[in-house]
Amino acid sequence: MHVDFFDKDGMPYRLIHNNEALTLEEILKLNDIPISSVEVSEAENGAYRTRLLYNTIFKSFKSIPVERVPSKAGDSPIYYTKQFIGFDESGALKRFLFDMDRDGFGDYIQSTFSDYTLKKNLVEKGDSILFGFSGGTDSTTMLNLLKSTQHLPDYDIKAVTVGNLGGTPDKAKISDACAKYGMEHEFIGDNEIITAFNLKYGVTQTIDSLVRSEKREFAVTTLQHMLVRMLEIKREEGGHNKIMMGLERETMINAALAYMLSGEQVAGVSRKTDGENTYIFPLLSLLKKEEQAYIRLAMPTYRDLDVNNATDARRYSLYESGYRGLIMLLAGHLLDVFPGIDIYLENSLEKIVARSRSSLEFAVCSNCGGRYISVEDTETNMCAACSTLKETDLI
Ligand SMILES: [Zn+2]
Repeated sequence: MHVDFFDKDGMPYRLIHNNEALTLEEILKLNDIPISSVEVSEAENGAYRTRLLYNTIFKSFKSIPVERVPSKAGDSPIYYTKQFIGFDESGALKRFLFDMDRDGFGDYIQSTFSDYTLKKNLVEKGDSILFGFSGGTDSTTMLNLLKSTQHLPDYDIKAVTVGNLGGTPDKAKISDACAKYGMEHEFIGDNEIITAFNLKYGVTQTIDSLVRSEKREFAVTTLQHMLVRMLEIKREEGGHNKIMMGLERETMINAALAYMLSGEQVAGVSRKTDGENTYIFPLLSLLKKEEQAYIRLAMPTYRDLDVNNATDARRYSLYESGYRGLIMLLAGHLLDVFPGIDIYLENSLEKIVARSRSSLEFAVCSNCGGRYISVEDTETNMCAACSTLKETDLI
């Protein structure tokens, strides 16, 4: 296919990869042009004639000047390139590329993690932290980073795994991981979860029923809430002042997008409180890709928990939420088009949270005792998760 491309005023614009072997969609995609931004008509010679509907985009996007910042070590190979679009001193857009070798990247990840943790007061002197440890890559990375970061103030920490809810039955591996880093660890059994939520059936049966019910789109958020609520109960029992969880940077992007799409109030970004419980999320400092590259570097023998077990099918269908998946897809495309957009989104979300904090009102759930942001028109006195469990006849 050949594509004749014009801007809104009819000025021709040269496209790359404009050849017969590719479709119109492919050619536009290779040129970073969304199909929704062009008008397409078939010209007489068989080529497509396409016209931009706006003049304000793309031409400038393609010409954002690149500034490469080389790795500190002279001739060692590049391990990772951090990219972001930002403003230079004159206010002009620039695409910054930071090339890092292995050592440089390891230092970068550790300092990014500790700078973020300190700057946002996530870990403070004298803290007693309860760490929700699932044994997956996020919490394992965080365990490694906490132990390899020198600059954090003195704090106490204990790891807790919420039985079946974290999706991991490999208890020995989890205990070993914590023991290796000298961290105290405890499992929360199914019985405690059943009691806390007044479940009619066992935990596994509850999850399976939820996934098969018409409320399956809410299964993930319901289970997440149950997991978090168990951590809250443990926090109170143990007299800890903070709950820490390993959520990576994409979670923050998804939360920003979810906020934009719903307008629902947000209780915090990297640090959040419901008046009773304070949560901290230091791993929001790292994108998933950076986390994975760091694992390969710092924990070369690490393997994610064995996925060949009986809970596979359940986990798969659990995470198969269309709406949630769509938001994550959008986040991925945003990062591709605008590397560094996460920084802007995080600052923006923090301002939104700061402005709305005083108007946040929390109610206490009559079933689980957890606190939730109360919305005026709710009919029940239960949190969203317990309402879902009630509607599916599981409590
Ligand atoms: Zn509840």
